[in-house]
Amino acid sequence: MSAREVMEKKMFVDGQWVDADSGAITDILDPYDASVAARVPHAGREEARRAIGAARRAFDQGPWPHMAASERAAVVRRIGDLVVRDREELARLETLDTGKTVEESRWDMDDVSGIFHYFAGLADKDGGEVIESPMPDTSSVVVREPVGVCGQISPWNYPLLQASWKLAPALAAGCTVIMKPSEITPLTTIKITELCEEAGVPAGVVNTVLGAGSQVGAELSESEDVDLISFTGGIDTGKRIIRAASTNVKKMALELGGKNPNIVFDDADFELALDHALNGVFFHAGQICSAGARLMVQDAIHDEFVDALEARIRNIRLGCGFDDKTEMGPVISAEHLAKVEEYVDVAQKEGARLRCGGARPTDPELQKGWFYLPTLFDRCENDMRIVQEEVFGPVISVERFHTEEEAVQRANATVYGLSAGFWTRDPDRIHRVSRALRFGTVWVNDFNVYFVQAPWGGYKQSGLGRELGRMGLEEYTEVKHIYQNH
Ligand code: NAD
Repeated sequence: MSAREVMEKKMFVDGQWVDADSGAITDILDPYDASVAARVPHAGREEARRAIGAARRAFDQGPWPHMAASERAAVVRRIGDLVVRDREELARLETLDTGKTVEESRWDMDDVSGIFHYFAGLADKDGGEVIESPMPDTSSVVVREPVGVCGQISPWNYPLLQASWKLAPALAAGCTVIMKPSEITPLTTIKITELCEEAGVPAGVVNTVLGAGSQVGAELSESEDVDLISFTGGIDTGKRIIRAASTNVKKMALELGGKNPNIVFDDADFELALDHALNGVFFHAGQICSAGARLMVQDAIHDEFVDALEARIRNIRLGCGFDDKTEMGPVISAEHLAKVEEYVDVAQKEGARLRCGGARPTDPELQKGWFYLPTLFDRCENDMRIVQEEVFGPVISVERFHTEEEAVQRANATVYGLSAGFWTRDPDRIHRVSRALRFGTVWVNDFNVYFVQAPWGGYKQSGLGRELGRMGLEEYTEVKHIYQNH
């Protein structure tokens, strides 16, 4: 596949590859140079309703939810195997869609295959539980059953990874699915749908509908025939989905935004903390829900640390994601670039000091795409918008702090609760601070580490429920107590 070939793609409803009813299409743009990379259908509510109907029939009439879990596991494992086979093609599609470096996309694809293999492994491991019944000559068992039809709405930053966090456990549990990728990054979700078909997933079990969130996404959230909605995206969209999903008291799994503190105490391993302060934010141009965009550095090392960070940031090489020398690609879209620029403006008006970046690059090669220079602000305060709000771009804010107590108090003073990290060599402090931080994941002497065995999700407004790990499978089940009087 050439990076410049314009692909024509369809979407998948009830076992058929189809166009939108109206014939409408969306141009998928390459963030590197704004060229058209693909054309895909742009569907509306009617196509979403048909996909929901197909998923409903596939769930109610089987065979998918009722087949032996080991048989379902074999199909899910095969999807993982096909991702391994098509790793390079998938990685290149992801880079074309998102602009991230192809090396990052390859890591994503390795995680994706691992996710299908992990949930295939879990699918037949839950045999239920026999519980003690207080009445004589009776018995009680507790079993888990698939929750039903699942609407799965994903964002643009990790298109296939986020979709797989949802798709793999849903299939392993015996659910049927309608996937709705972000309208700007659908290519790898289309490809994984092809792989599901090839792996032998029955018609109607996996459907992929492409279109606007306000139409396709809203239909999935509102529909009485959808039993669970799983959403990853921004807080405002999440709140809209909660309201829509209340119509039939749907189950909900929500992974929302984050503004993640990265706290460097003065006894930290300086060089290691510096490496991770950099990678924690500028990886994928800062478009990571768990980016350590909010750096907090203790007094004694503050100036030296920020000077060293600035020197490293100035050396980050921007470019095309397909070029091996590129360290950071563009941001996702023109609209998103404008949002990043607006935050940089706001930060300066609020009194933060711009240390580097704060503009688009001047390199002629980077003028067509949506590039922004890695940006560092210091002298930031807790109540500034640059500290409290998710920029979701290559921008880092630095706050100076004095005591451990102050660091914890400031870090927790946010509506978000996705992840946080801190750096220290003091074992007592590790114990105290890791318990005091109110976040779904806390990293000690590391940052941005996740793996499929560990649950992922947010405290506070960063979400509801957990993905990955055993809990990630349980989200797709209902619990039934069967009581028998002999
Ligand atoms: P977004 O909320 O704009 O869109 C996410 C998805 O929701 C898209 O598919 C979109 O089409 C759909 N959508 C939009 N309006 C909708 C509606 N009314 N009803 C139903 N669906 C609708 O988010 P985005 O800009 O694509 O992604 C960035 C956000 O995602 C950031 O806030 C980031 O923190 C978050 N995110 C969180 C995690 C996590 O694990 N917590 C992971 C990745 C991204």
